[in-house]
Amino acid sequence: MAIVYSCNHCGNQIGQLEQKVIDTQSLGWKELSSDERKEMIQYQNNGDIHIKAICEDCQETLENNPHYHELDYFIQ
Ligand SMILES: [Zn+2]
Repeated sequence: MAIVYSCNHCGNQIGQLEQKVIDTQSLGWKELSSDERKEMIQYQNNGDIHIKAICEDCQETLENNPHYHELDYFIQ
């Protein structure tokens, strides 16, 4: 079972965690509403979990171009 983080904007894979047991509490998911969870977290058929995030490049672009906030929906 793996947790795969990929960038919601450029599609780059940011990171991957191999875990036997996924402790959703430690990932802070309880902070998210169920709608946010549905948006961000996708359960794959093979048991992997794909999480939409933002990579450093896109984060930097966002910080350098604050008006992007108006154009797109960024997940921090
Ligand atoms: Zn990106």
